[in-house]
Amino acid sequence: MPNNSAFVFTAQQGHKFLLSTSTARERIAKLRRLRSTIESYEQRLYEALKKDLRKNEFEAAVSEVIFIYGEINHAIRHLTGWMKPRRAGKAITNIFAKNRIYYQPKGVCLIISPWNYPFQLLMSPLVSAIAAGNCVILKPSELSPATSTVMASLIEDCFDQQEVCCFEGGAEVASELLQLPFDHIFFTGSTAIGKIVMEAAAKSLASVTLELGGKSPVVIHTSADLKKTAEKIAWGKLINAGQTCIAPDYVLIPEHMMEIFAGHYISAAEALFCSGSAAPDLDVYAKIINERHFKRLCELITDATAKGAELVYGGLAQAETLTISPAILLNPSLDSALMQEEIFGPLLPVVPYKNLTEAVALINAKSKPLALYIFSKDAAVTKQIIRDTSSGGICVNDVLVHISNPKLPFGGVGTSGMGSCHGHYGFKAFSHERSVVFQSGPNLTRLIYPPYRTKQWVLKLLKKLF
Ligand code: NAD
Repeated sequence: MPNNSAFVFTAQQGHKFLLSTSTARERIAKLRRLRSTIESYEQRLYEALKKDLRKNEFEAAVSEVIFIYGEINHAIRHLTGWMKPRRAGKAITNIFAKNRIYYQPKGVCLIISPWNYPFQLLMSPLVSAIAAGNCVILKPSELSPATSTVMASLIEDCFDQQEVCCFEGGAEVASELLQLPFDHIFFTGSTAIGKIVMEAAAKSLASVTLELGGKSPVVIHTSADLKKTAEKIAWGKLINAGQTCIAPDYVLIPEHMMEIFAGHYISAAEALFCSGSAAPDLDVYAKIINERHFKRLCELITDATAKGAELVYGGLAQAETLTISPAILLNPSLDSALMQEEIFGPLLPVVPYKNLTEAVALINAKSKPLALYIFSKDAAVTKQIIRDTSSGGICVNDVLVHISNPKLPFGGVGTSGMGSCHGHYGFKAFSHERSVVFQSGPNLTRLIYPPYRTKQWVLKLLKKLF
């Protein structure tokens, strides 16, 4: 067990200067050590993920562990280049100077993560923070306790606590950590807690990356292939039982296509997660994280149906196994909680639209989502939706897969987040971009030194030049 947080924080504050001078080779060695430690923990991680979320081992491997191997390998491959000072162009004011951007670690960073992909969402920012040369304190979620305990032990095995240290616990531990003057805070979680984190960061003016949530819409255009579209949406919605930050939250579809889409969605849900029947296959279908969220989702169905939504399929709740079968609800009232809150569960509301303008207006009436999905074979329509809406990211003719490319920035906008992560973007999130000007040549700046009386011609010249 690590010592208390203030003690570790002070030790890391002392150590950060040494780390800031670390070479690419040293950081790469650390990333390799992290990878091999993870490899030795793989089986324990799968068992923990099964315990916390009933994640199937294959799914856990792809979406949590191998995802992190990808991040580590990408960082190892590119770190030497990322760390090199970058050339910047000259301005007329320093034409004889060399202009460079240096990447300096932020210092001591705090990473707070949620429970839905508990391994991926703690480790991915950790990889970036190590690559950027920081000391790190980690706070995983208390709602996935088995995985958090395995991760704490993995971190203890891999790092000295003055470099990386993990504190398990809930809001009280997070609040205690947030009292400390970190150099950067990387938070993944809900928008509501994101606001608390940002407020706490303001006290020491720590920079923040906020990876938050929201309602990620899907727009289906008349040109889309409904069968293929439904299969992709069913996978994206039902993997981890809908508890994915970029899961398609609700579908907007032309009125006349709604029933056909529902049919395809039901078939796809049964084929993918129910072994061809209506009852979920508990070997591949995750559980709802806890009773509170289970009840919340049941209430979303009750409230939506009371307000007129047609529950045409699923939504069967089994309390003993914390399982809610894949549900599809047509025509929900826009005032129902189902259409107001982030669902974070296997319930798919389908909202009909008359024309594209109406669909875009529905999206823009809500907070900016983390992801937006467009299914369309019409390039002009796709272009129009991209132009007329805002979201953290967009995926056209697929769902979720944009998160898997470390060459793309991943992050939200507005209430869905601030800043971005993965690959080079993660490295930059944990680095300070420091401008360095190496001055040389004649001192042209003397032209603007006092006395000003004789320098009217300089003003005239500058006005012409700028
Ligand atoms: P949450 O905000 O409840 O908790 C996240 C973390 O914050 C946990 O570690 C928790 O212990 C901590 N926390 C709780 N109370 C706190 C407080 N008062 N002060 C500081 N920290 C506190 O979120 P969650 O329920 O764990 O996760 C679900 C949310 O996370 C959803 O909204 C989802 O969309 C979002 N999410 C976003 C991403 C992303 O990459 N953008 C990824 C996964 C989940």
